[in-house]
Amino acid sequence: MSEPIGTESHPLRVAVIGSGPSGYYAAEELLKQESPRVRVDLFDRLPTPYGLVRGGVAPDHPKIKSVIKIYERTSGRPGFRFFGHVNAGSDLALEELLRHYHQVLFCTGSETDRRMGIPGEDLPGSHPATIFVGWYNGHPDYTHHRFDLDAERVAVIGNGNVAMDVVRILATPTRELAKTDIADYALEALGRSRVREIHLLGRRGPAQAAFTNPEIRELCEIDGADLVIRPEDLELDEASRAFLAAQSEPTYRRNMEILTGQAKKGEGSQPRKIRARFLVSPVAILGQGRVEAIRLEKNRLVPVDSGTVRAQGTGEFEELPAGMVFRSIGYKGLPLPGLPFDERAGTVPHRAGRALDPVSGQPVPRVYVAGWIKRGPSGVIGTNKNDAIESVRSMLADLPQLNAGAGFDPDPEAIPTLLRRKGVRWVSFADWKRIDAAETARGQAQGRPRVKFTAVDEMLALLGE
Ligand code: NAP
Repeated sequence: MSEPIGTESHPLRVAVIGSGPSGYYAAEELLKQESPRVRVDLFDRLPTPYGLVRGGVAPDHPKIKSVIKIYERTSGRPGFRFFGHVNAGSDLALEELLRHYHQVLFCTGSETDRRMGIPGEDLPGSHPATIFVGWYNGHPDYTHHRFDLDAERVAVIGNGNVAMDVVRILATPTRELAKTDIADYALEALGRSRVREIHLLGRRGPAQAAFTNPEIRELCEIDGADLVIRPEDLELDEASRAFLAAQSEPTYRRNMEILTGQAKKGEGSQPRKIRARFLVSPVAILGQGRVEAIRLEKNRLVPVDSGTVRAQGTGEFEELPAGMVFRSIGYKGLPLPGLPFDERAGTVPHRAGRALDPVSGQPVPRVYVAGWIKRGPSGVIGTNKNDAIESVRSMLADLPQLNAGAGFDPDPEAIPTLLRRKGVRWVSFADWKRIDAAETARGQAQGRPRVKFTAVDEMLALLGE
Protein backbone atom coordinates (compact mmCIF):
# COMPACT_ATOMS: atom_id res chain seq x y z
CA MET A 1 0.00 0.00 0.00
CA SER A 2 1.36 3.48 -0.87
CA GLU A 3 2.27 5.98 1.84
CA PRO A 4 -0.53 8.46 2.66
CA ILE A 5 -0.16 12.03 1.35
CA GLY A 6 0.85 14.64 3.89
CA THR A 7 3.73 13.06 5.77
CA GLU A 8 7.18 14.63 6.07
CA SER A 9 8.59 12.26 3.45
CA HIS A 10 5.49 12.37 1.23
CA PRO A 11 4.10 15.93 1.66
CA LEU A 12 1.02 17.31 -0.04
CA ARG A 13 2.36 19.33 -2.95
CA VAL A 14 0.29 22.35 -3.97
CA ALA A 15 0.77 24.85 -6.80
CA VAL A 16 -0.76 28.26 -6.05
CA ILE A 17 -1.14 30.38 -9.18
CA GLY A 18 -1.03 34.12 -8.51
CA SER A 19 0.91 35.78 -5.69
CA GLY A 20 -1.57 38.48 -4.68
CA PRO A 21 -3.33 38.55 -1.30
CA SER A 22 -5.50 35.45 -1.80
CA GLY A 23 -2.52 33.42 -3.09
CA TYR A 24 -0.43 34.42 -0.09
CA TYR A 25 -3.20 33.84 2.48
CA ALA A 26 -3.82 30.39 0.97
CA ALA A 27 -0.07 29.58 1.05
CA GLU A 28 0.09 30.63 4.70
CA GLU A 29 -2.94 28.52 5.64
CA LEU A 30 -1.48 25.48 3.86
CA LEU A 31 2.05 25.84 5.26
CA LYS A 32 0.97 26.33 8.85
CA GLN A 33 -0.74 22.89 8.96
CA GLU A 34 0.93 20.46 11.36
CA SER A 35 -0.80 17.66 9.56
CA PRO A 36 -0.90 17.12 6.66
CA ARG A 37 2.58 18.45 5.87
CA VAL A 38 2.32 20.72 2.83
CA ARG A 39 4.80 22.14 0.32
CA VAL A 40 3.68 25.19 -1.66
CA ASP A 41 5.08 26.50 -4.93
CA LEU A 42 3.68 29.99 -5.58
CA PHE A 43 3.69 31.08 -9.24
CA ASP A 44 3.31 34.54 -10.72
CA ARG A 45 3.51 35.61 -14.35
CA LEU A 46 5.43 38.73 -13.23
CA PRO A 47 8.93 38.54 -11.73
CA THR A 48 7.51 40.42 -8.71
CA PRO A 49 5.14 39.06 -6.05
CA TYR A 50 2.12 40.60 -4.23
CA GLY A 51 -0.31 41.20 -7.13
CA LEU A 52 -2.62 44.14 -6.54
CA VAL A 53 -0.76 45.17 -3.38
CA ARG A 54 2.12 46.19 -5.66
CA GLY A 55 0.21 46.96 -8.87
CA GLY A 56 -3.17 48.19 -7.59
CA VAL A 57 -2.97 49.82 -4.16
CA ALA A 58 -2.52 53.57 -4.65
CA PRO A 59 1.05 54.86 -4.16
CA ASP A 60 -0.12 57.34 -1.51
CA HIS A 61 -1.49 54.47 0.63
CA PRO A 62 1.74 53.01 2.04
CA LYS A 63 -0.01 51.73 5.19
CA ILE A 64 -2.20 49.41 3.12
CA LYS A 65 0.95 48.06 1.46
CA SER A 66 2.52 47.20 4.83
CA VAL A 67 0.56 43.91 4.65
CA ILE A 68 3.55 42.78 2.55
CA LYS A 69 5.40 42.11 5.83
CA ILE A 70 2.96 39.27 6.51
CA TYR A 71 3.51 37.83 3.03
CA GLU A 72 7.28 38.04 3.53
CA ARG A 73 6.94 35.91 6.66
CA THR A 74 4.99 33.31 4.67
CA SER A 75 7.74 33.39 2.02
CA GLY A 76 10.28 32.48 4.71
CA ARG A 77 8.41 29.36 5.84
CA PRO A 78 10.02 25.98 5.16
CA GLY A 79 8.34 24.33 2.21
CA PHE A 80 7.66 27.61 0.35
CA ARG A 81 9.08 28.38 -3.11
CA PHE A 82 8.35 31.33 -5.39
CA PHE A 83 8.40 30.96 -9.16
CA GLY A 84 8.06 34.46 -10.60
CA HIS A 85 8.00 35.17 -14.35
CA VAL A 86 6.23 31.86 -15.03
CA ASN A 87 2.90 31.97 -16.82
CA ALA A 88 0.56 29.16 -15.81
CA GLY A 89 -1.17 28.54 -19.09
CA SER A 90 1.58 29.30 -21.61
CA ASP A 91 4.77 28.28 -19.73
CA LEU A 92 3.11 25.50 -17.75
CA ALA A 93 -0.12 23.88 -18.95
CA LEU A 94 -2.73 22.75 -16.44
CA GLU A 95 -1.99 19.08 -17.29
CA GLU A 96 1.68 19.67 -16.47
CA LEU A 97 0.80 21.26 -13.15
CA LEU A 98 -1.54 18.38 -12.31
CA ARG A 99 1.22 15.90 -13.18
CA HIS A 100 3.55 17.40 -10.54
CA TYR A 101 1.19 18.78 -7.88
CA HIS A 102 -1.53 16.99 -5.95
CA GLN A 103 -3.66 20.13 -6.09
CA VAL A 104 -3.64 23.40 -8.03
CA LEU A 105 -5.19 26.56 -6.58
CA PHE A 106 -5.85 29.49 -8.93
CA CYS A 107 -5.71 32.94 -7.32
CA THR A 108 -5.40 34.99 -10.50
CA GLY A 109 -7.72 37.84 -9.53
CA SER A 110 -9.65 40.03 -11.96
CA GLU A 111 -7.26 41.08 -14.69
CA THR A 112 -9.41 43.29 -16.87
CA ASP A 113 -12.18 45.89 -16.60
CA ARG A 114 -15.96 45.65 -16.92
CA ARG A 115 -17.34 47.25 -20.05
CA MET A 116 -20.09 49.88 -19.96
CA GLY A 117 -21.54 48.90 -23.34
CA ILE A 118 -22.32 52.49 -24.39
CA PRO A 119 -21.52 54.32 -27.66
CA GLY A 120 -18.17 56.11 -27.66
CA GLU A 121 -16.73 53.94 -24.90
CA ASP A 122 -13.52 53.39 -26.90
CA LEU A 123 -13.01 56.95 -28.17
CA PRO A 124 -9.46 58.21 -27.58
CA GLY A 125 -9.47 59.89 -24.17
CA SER A 126 -11.85 57.31 -22.64
CA HIS A 127 -9.89 54.97 -20.38
CA PRO A 128 -10.68 52.10 -18.04
CA ALA A 129 -9.58 53.06 -14.53
CA THR A 130 -7.90 49.63 -14.27
CA ILE A 131 -5.34 50.70 -16.92
CA PHE A 132 -4.74 54.11 -15.32
CA VAL A 133 -4.16 52.39 -11.96
CA GLY A 134 -1.71 49.86 -13.47
CA TRP A 135 0.02 52.72 -15.32
CA TYR A 136 0.64 55.00 -12.35
CA ASN A 137 1.72 51.98 -10.30
CA GLY A 138 4.37 50.98 -12.86
CA HIS A 139 2.80 47.59 -13.65
CA PRO A 140 4.79 46.24 -16.64
CA ASP A 141 1.57 45.48 -18.60
CA TYR A 142 0.54 49.15 -18.64
CA THR A 143 3.73 51.21 -18.94
CA HIS A 144 3.25 51.68 -22.71
CA HIS A 145 -0.12 53.45 -22.27
CA ARG A 146 -0.18 57.21 -22.67
CA PHE A 147 -2.28 59.56 -20.61
CA ASP A 148 -2.21 63.05 -22.07
CA LEU A 149 -3.65 64.95 -19.18
CA ASP A 150 -4.24 68.02 -21.31
CA ALA A 151 -7.98 68.34 -20.69
CA GLU A 152 -9.13 70.87 -18.10
CA ARG A 153 -12.26 68.91 -17.28
CA VAL A 154 -12.42 65.13 -16.81
CA ALA A 155 -15.14 62.72 -15.71
CA VAL A 156 -14.69 59.69 -13.48
CA ILE A 157 -17.54 57.19 -13.74
CA GLY A 158 -18.31 55.08 -10.66
CA ASN A 159 -18.32 55.64 -6.92
CA GLY A 160 -16.15 52.75 -5.72
CA ASN A 161 -12.79 53.00 -3.97
CA VAL A 162 -10.94 52.66 -7.28
CA ALA A 163 -12.74 55.82 -8.46
CA MET A 164 -11.58 57.46 -5.21
CA ASP A 165 -7.99 56.45 -5.97
CA VAL A 166 -8.20 57.78 -9.54
CA VAL A 167 -9.70 61.11 -8.43
CA ARG A 168 -7.12 61.51 -5.65
CA ILE A 169 -4.18 60.82 -7.99
CA LEU A 170 -5.57 63.32 -10.53
CA ALA A 171 -6.23 65.97 -7.88
CA THR A 172 -3.18 65.66 -5.61
CA PRO A 173 -0.29 68.06 -6.30
CA THR A 174 2.79 66.24 -7.60
CA ARG A 175 4.92 67.61 -4.74
CA GLU A 176 2.95 65.15 -2.56
CA LEU A 177 2.99 62.27 -5.05
CA ALA A 178 6.76 62.71 -5.47
CA LYS A 179 7.18 61.28 -1.95
CA THR A 180 5.59 57.97 -2.99
CA ASP A 181 6.57 54.99 -5.16
CA ILE A 182 4.43 56.21 -8.09
CA ALA A 183 6.05 55.45 -11.49
CA ASP A 184 8.40 58.23 -12.59
CA TYR A 185 6.76 58.61 -16.01
CA ALA A 186 3.37 59.03 -14.28
CA LEU A 187 4.79 61.66 -11.98
CA GLU A 188 6.09 63.56 -15.00
CA ALA A 189 2.77 63.31 -16.86
CA LEU A 190 0.84 64.38 -13.76
CA GLY A 191 3.27 67.29 -13.33
CA ARG A 192 2.24 68.53 -16.80
CA SER A 193 -1.47 67.89 -16.13
CA ARG A 194 -3.91 70.66 -17.07
CA VAL A 195 -6.78 68.99 -15.20
CA ARG A 196 -8.67 71.53 -13.08
CA GLU A 197 -12.14 70.03 -12.69
CA ILE A 198 -12.93 66.40 -11.96
CA HIS A 199 -16.56 65.27 -12.16
CA LEU A 200 -17.24 62.19 -10.06
CA LEU A 201 -20.37 60.49 -11.36
CA GLY A 202 -22.46 58.04 -9.31
CA ARG A 203 -25.42 56.24 -10.86
CA ARG A 204 -27.18 55.80 -7.52
CA GLY A 205 -27.58 58.32 -4.70
CA PRO A 206 -25.11 59.53 -2.07
CA ALA A 207 -26.64 57.10 0.46
CA GLN A 208 -25.71 54.08 -1.71
CA ALA A 209 -22.21 55.16 -2.78
CA ALA A 210 -19.73 52.25 -2.83
CA PHE A 211 -16.80 54.24 -1.40
CA THR A 212 -15.84 53.68 2.24
CA ASN A 213 -15.47 56.32 4.97
CA PRO A 214 -11.67 56.83 5.01
CA GLU A 215 -11.56 57.09 1.20
CA ILE A 216 -14.27 59.79 0.88
CA ARG A 217 -12.77 61.63 3.87
CA GLU A 218 -9.42 61.72 2.05
CA LEU A 219 -11.07 63.46 -0.91
CA CYS A 220 -12.25 66.16 1.52
CA GLU A 221 -8.70 66.70 2.73
CA ILE A 222 -6.60 67.04 -0.44
CA ASP A 223 -4.29 70.03 -0.16
CA GLY A 224 -4.84 71.67 -3.52
CA ALA A 225 -8.38 70.51 -4.33
CA ASP A 226 -11.92 71.07 -3.00
CA LEU A 227 -14.57 68.37 -3.02
CA VAL A 228 -17.72 70.30 -3.97
CA ILE A 229 -21.16 68.82 -3.30
CA ARG A 230 -24.44 70.59 -3.92
CA PRO A 231 -26.59 70.41 -0.77
CA GLU A 232 -29.68 69.62 -2.88
CA ASP A 233 -27.94 66.45 -4.16
CA LEU A 234 -27.89 65.14 -0.58
CA GLU A 235 -31.68 65.42 -0.08
CA LEU A 236 -32.81 61.83 0.29
CA ASP A 237 -35.90 60.32 -1.27
CA GLU A 238 -38.14 57.76 0.39
CA ALA A 239 -36.19 54.78 -1.06
CA SER A 240 -32.87 56.11 0.27
CA ARG A 241 -34.23 56.83 3.73
CA ALA A 242 -35.58 53.26 3.92
CA PHE A 243 -32.26 51.94 2.56
CA LEU A 244 -30.25 53.75 5.25
CA ALA A 245 -32.62 52.69 8.02
CA ALA A 246 -32.20 49.04 6.96
CA GLN A 247 -28.39 49.08 7.17
CA SER A 248 -26.99 47.23 10.18
CA GLU A 249 -23.50 48.52 9.39
CA PRO A 250 -22.71 52.27 9.75
CA THR A 251 -20.60 52.86 6.55
CA TYR A 252 -23.40 54.35 4.42
CA ARG A 253 -24.73 56.55 7.25
CA ARG A 254 -21.21 57.84 7.98
CA ASN A 255 -20.66 58.50 4.28
CA MET A 256 -23.76 60.74 4.41
CA GLU A 257 -22.44 62.58 7.47
CA ILE A 258 -19.08 63.18 5.76
CA LEU A 259 -20.74 64.38 2.55
CA THR A 260 -23.14 66.63 4.48
CA GLY A 261 -20.25 68.23 6.37
CA GLN A 262 -18.37 68.77 3.13
CA ALA A 263 -21.38 70.24 1.26
CA LYS A 264 -21.50 73.06 3.84
CA LYS A 265 -18.03 74.21 2.76
CA GLY A 266 -19.30 75.26 -0.68
CA GLU A 267 -16.87 75.98 -3.52
CA GLY A 268 -13.74 76.50 -1.40
CA SER A 269 -10.63 78.24 -2.70
CA GLN A 270 -8.30 75.50 -3.90
CA PRO A 271 -7.16 75.50 -7.54
CA ARG A 272 -8.68 72.13 -8.40
CA LYS A 273 -12.33 71.14 -7.95
CA ILE A 274 -13.79 67.68 -7.54
CA ARG A 275 -17.50 67.91 -8.28
CA ALA A 276 -19.49 64.93 -6.99
CA ARG A 277 -22.70 64.21 -8.86
CA PHE A 278 -25.21 61.49 -8.01
CA LEU A 279 -28.15 59.82 -9.77
CA VAL A 280 -26.66 60.11 -13.26
CA SER A 281 -25.80 57.31 -15.71
CA PRO A 282 -23.55 57.85 -18.74
CA VAL A 283 -25.45 56.74 -21.85
CA ALA A 284 -22.87 57.84 -24.47
CA ILE A 285 -19.39 59.27 -24.70
CA LEU A 286 -19.38 61.93 -27.40
CA GLY A 287 -16.72 63.47 -29.64
CA GLN A 288 -15.26 63.77 -33.13
CA GLY A 289 -12.19 61.54 -33.03
CA ARG A 290 -11.72 61.99 -29.28
CA VAL A 291 -13.72 62.54 -26.10
CA GLU A 292 -15.43 65.92 -25.97
CA ALA A 293 -18.44 65.31 -23.74
CA ILE A 294 -20.43 62.71 -21.92
CA ARG A 295 -24.18 62.27 -22.24
CA LEU A 296 -25.88 61.59 -18.94
CA GLU A 297 -29.34 60.35 -18.08
CA LYS A 298 -30.80 61.41 -14.75
CA ASN A 299 -31.89 58.53 -12.55
CA ARG A 300 -34.41 57.85 -9.86
CA LEU A 301 -34.07 55.11 -7.28
CA VAL A 302 -36.36 52.11 -7.11
CA PRO A 303 -36.37 49.54 -4.31
CA VAL A 304 -35.58 45.93 -5.22
CA ASP A 305 -36.59 42.82 -3.31
CA SER A 306 -33.20 42.23 -1.69
CA GLY A 307 -33.57 45.37 0.46
CA THR A 308 -31.37 47.48 -1.80
CA VAL A 309 -32.23 50.07 -4.44
CA ARG A 310 -31.30 50.35 -8.07
CA ALA A 311 -31.02 53.27 -10.48
CA GLN A 312 -33.68 53.69 -13.14
CA GLY A 313 -33.41 56.22 -15.99
CA THR A 314 -35.94 59.08 -16.00
CA GLY A 315 -35.67 59.90 -19.71
CA GLU A 316 -34.16 63.30 -18.84
CA PHE A 317 -30.71 63.90 -20.36
CA GLU A 318 -27.86 66.39 -20.15
CA GLU A 319 -24.44 66.80 -21.75
CA LEU A 320 -21.35 67.35 -19.65
CA PRO A 321 -18.37 68.69 -21.60
CA ALA A 322 -15.22 66.71 -20.65
CA GLY A 323 -11.96 66.02 -22.48
CA MET A 324 -11.20 62.75 -20.74
CA VAL A 325 -13.21 59.94 -19.15
CA PHE A 326 -12.08 57.32 -16.64
CA ARG A 327 -14.49 54.36 -16.46
CA SER A 328 -14.22 53.00 -12.93
CA ILE A 329 -17.10 50.53 -12.83
CA GLY A 330 -15.23 47.46 -11.60
CA TYR A 331 -12.66 44.83 -12.51
CA LYS A 332 -13.44 41.55 -14.29
CA GLY A 333 -11.72 38.14 -14.32
CA LEU A 334 -10.31 36.53 -17.47
CA PRO A 335 -10.83 32.86 -18.44
CA LEU A 336 -8.00 30.48 -17.57
CA PRO A 337 -6.91 27.81 -20.07
CA GLY A 338 -8.56 24.50 -19.23
CA LEU A 339 -10.83 25.87 -16.49
CA PRO A 340 -14.59 26.44 -16.56
CA PHE A 341 -15.60 30.12 -16.68
CA ASP A 342 -18.71 32.20 -16.07
CA GLU A 343 -18.44 34.89 -18.77
CA ARG A 344 -21.06 37.15 -17.24
CA ALA A 345 -19.60 37.20 -13.74
CA GLY A 346 -15.96 36.95 -14.91
CA THR A 347 -15.32 34.22 -12.33
CA VAL A 348 -14.70 30.47 -12.19
CA PRO A 349 -17.85 28.65 -10.99
CA HIS A 350 -17.06 26.95 -7.69
CA ARG A 351 -18.42 25.27 -4.60
CA ALA A 352 -16.53 26.42 -1.49
CA GLY A 353 -13.47 26.94 -3.69
CA ARG A 354 -13.75 23.71 -5.72
CA ALA A 355 -13.81 24.60 -9.44
CA LEU A 356 -17.05 23.23 -10.91
CA ASP A 357 -17.66 21.72 -14.33
CA PRO A 358 -20.69 23.69 -15.60
CA VAL A 359 -22.03 20.71 -17.57
CA SER A 360 -21.89 18.00 -14.93
CA GLY A 361 -22.07 20.38 -11.94
CA GLN A 362 -19.28 18.23 -10.45
CA PRO A 363 -15.94 19.51 -9.08
CA VAL A 364 -13.00 19.49 -11.50
CA PRO A 365 -10.68 17.04 -9.72
CA ARG A 366 -7.77 18.68 -7.85
CA VAL A 367 -8.47 22.21 -9.14
CA TYR A 368 -9.47 25.06 -6.80
CA VAL A 369 -9.92 28.84 -6.81
CA ALA A 370 -9.65 31.64 -4.25
CA GLY A 371 -9.90 35.44 -4.19
CA TRP A 372 -11.40 37.63 -6.93
CA ILE A 373 -11.37 34.88 -9.61
CA LYS A 374 -13.63 32.95 -7.20
CA ARG A 375 -15.98 35.56 -5.73
CA GLY A 376 -15.52 38.57 -8.06
CA PRO A 377 -13.82 41.92 -7.39
CA SER A 378 -15.19 42.87 -3.98
CA GLY A 379 -14.01 43.59 -0.46
CA VAL A 380 -10.71 44.83 0.94
CA ILE A 381 -7.36 43.00 1.04
CA GLY A 382 -8.22 41.26 4.32
CA THR A 383 -11.45 39.85 2.84
CA ASN A 384 -9.24 37.46 0.87
CA LYS A 385 -8.01 35.78 4.02
CA ASN A 386 -11.27 34.06 4.96
CA ASP A 387 -11.95 33.44 1.29
CA ALA A 388 -8.60 31.63 0.92
CA ILE A 389 -9.11 29.70 4.16
CA GLU A 390 -12.45 28.39 2.87
CA SER A 391 -10.78 27.08 -0.30
CA VAL A 392 -7.91 25.51 1.67
CA ARG A 393 -10.42 23.74 3.94
CA SER A 394 -12.04 22.21 0.85
CA MET A 395 -8.63 21.14 -0.43
CA LEU A 396 -7.74 19.44 2.83
CA ALA A 397 -11.17 17.83 3.15
CA ASP A 398 -10.74 16.30 -0.32
CA LEU A 399 -7.44 14.57 0.52
CA PRO A 400 -8.92 11.17 1.45
CA GLN A 401 -10.45 10.87 -2.05
CA LEU A 402 -7.46 12.33 -3.89
CA ASN A 403 -6.33 10.27 -6.86
CA ALA A 404 -3.55 11.87 -8.91
CA GLY A 405 -3.62 9.03 -11.45
CA ALA A 406 -0.94 7.25 -13.46
CA GLY A 407 2.19 9.21 -14.44
CA PHE A 408 2.02 11.46 -11.37
CA ASP A 409 5.49 12.70 -10.42
CA PRO A 410 5.68 14.73 -7.18
CA ASP A 411 9.49 15.13 -7.30
CA PRO A 412 10.12 18.78 -6.22
CA GLU A 413 12.88 19.03 -8.83
CA ALA A 414 10.54 18.09 -11.69
CA ILE A 415 9.18 21.64 -12.16
CA PRO A 416 12.57 23.42 -12.17
CA THR A 417 13.80 20.77 -14.61
CA LEU A 418 10.77 21.24 -16.86
CA LEU A 419 11.11 25.05 -16.80
CA ARG A 420 14.82 24.82 -17.62
CA ARG A 421 14.02 22.50 -20.52
CA LYS A 422 11.48 25.02 -21.82
CA GLY A 423 13.98 27.89 -21.45
CA VAL A 424 11.85 29.71 -18.88
CA ARG A 425 13.99 31.93 -16.63
CA TRP A 426 12.05 31.92 -13.38
CA VAL A 427 12.59 34.39 -10.58
CA SER A 428 13.04 32.87 -7.12
CA PHE A 429 12.15 34.67 -3.90
CA ALA A 430 15.87 35.36 -3.34
CA ASP A 431 16.00 36.90 -6.84
CA TRP A 432 12.96 39.05 -6.00
CA LYS A 433 14.68 40.24 -2.83
CA ARG A 434 17.55 41.50 -5.02
CA ILE A 435 15.07 43.43 -7.19
CA ASP A 436 13.39 44.70 -4.02
CA ALA A 437 16.74 45.87 -2.55
CA ALA A 438 17.68 47.66 -5.78
CA GLU A 439 14.29 49.44 -5.93
CA THR A 440 14.54 50.46 -2.29
CA ALA A 441 18.09 51.78 -2.78
CA ARG A 442 16.96 53.84 -5.79
CA GLY A 443 14.12 55.21 -3.65
CA GLN A 444 16.36 56.04 -0.71
CA ALA A 445 18.47 58.30 -2.90
CA GLN A 446 15.30 60.35 -3.56
CA GLY A 447 13.66 60.13 -0.13
CA ARG A 448 11.00 57.74 -1.48
CA PRO A 449 10.02 54.24 -0.31
CA ARG A 450 11.21 52.77 -3.61
CA VAL A 451 11.59 53.54 -7.30
CA LYS A 452 10.09 50.57 -9.10
CA PHE A 453 11.45 48.78 -12.12
CA THR A 454 8.57 49.00 -14.56
CA ALA A 455 9.84 46.67 -17.31
CA VAL A 456 10.36 42.91 -16.99
CA ASP A 457 13.58 43.15 -19.06
CA GLU A 458 15.05 45.67 -16.61
CA MET A 459 14.34 43.28 -13.74
CA LEU A 460 15.89 40.30 -15.53
CA ALA A 461 18.91 42.44 -16.52
CA LEU A 462 19.45 43.31 -12.88
CA LEU A 463 19.48 39.58 -12.09
CA GLY A 464 22.17 39.12 -14.70
CA GLU A 465 20.13 37.73 -17.58
P1 NAP B 1 -16.83 48.72 -6.75
O1 NAP B 1 -16.59 49.02 -5.31
O2 NAP B 1 -17.66 47.55 -7.09
O3 NAP B 1 -17.49 50.04 -7.39
C1 NAP B 1 -17.95 50.06 -8.71
C2 NAP B 1 -18.72 51.36 -8.93
O4 NAP B 1 -19.11 51.40 -10.30
C3 NAP B 1 -19.99 51.45 -8.11
O5 NAP B 1 -20.18 52.79 -7.72
C4 NAP B 1 -21.06 51.03 -9.12
O6 NAP B 1 -22.35 51.55 -8.85
C5 NAP B 1 -20.51 51.66 -10.37
N1 NAP B 1 -21.03 51.07 -11.61
C6 NAP B 1 -21.05 49.76 -11.96
N2 NAP B 1 -21.58 49.61 -13.19
C7 NAP B 1 -21.88 50.86 -13.62
C8 NAP B 1 -22.45 51.37 -14.80
N3 NAP B 1 -22.79 50.57 -15.81
N4 NAP B 1 -22.64 52.71 -14.90
C9 NAP B 1 -22.28 53.54 -13.89
N5 NAP B 1 -21.73 53.11 -12.74
C10 NAP B 1 -21.53 51.78 -12.61
O7 NAP B 1 -15.47 48.50 -7.58
P2 NAP B 1 -14.03 49.17 -7.52
O8 NAP B 1 -14.08 50.60 -7.17
O9 NAP B 1 -13.39 48.76 -8.80
O10 NAP B 1 -13.32 48.41 -6.31
C11 NAP B 1 -13.13 47.00 -6.32
C12 NAP B 1 -12.92 46.52 -4.89
O11 NAP B 1 -11.64 46.94 -4.43
C13 NAP B 1 -13.93 47.09 -3.92
O12 NAP B 1 -14.29 46.12 -2.98
C14 NAP B 1 -13.17 48.22 -3.27
O13 NAP B 1 -13.63 48.58 -1.97
C15 NAP B 1 -11.76 47.63 -3.22
N6 NAP B 1 -10.78 48.72 -3.13
C16 NAP B 1 -10.42 49.14 -1.89
C17 NAP B 1 -9.56 50.21 -1.75
C18 NAP B 1 -9.20 50.68 -0.38
O14 NAP B 1 -9.47 50.00 0.59
N7 NAP B 1 -8.64 51.85 -0.22
C19 NAP B 1 -9.01 50.83 -2.87
C20 NAP B 1 -9.39 50.38 -4.14
C21 NAP B 1 -10.28 49.32 -4.25
P3 NAP B 1 -23.44 50.70 -8.01
O15 NAP B 1 -23.03 50.83 -6.58
O16 NAP B 1 -24.71 51.39 -8.33
O17 NAP B 1 -23.37 49.29 -8.53
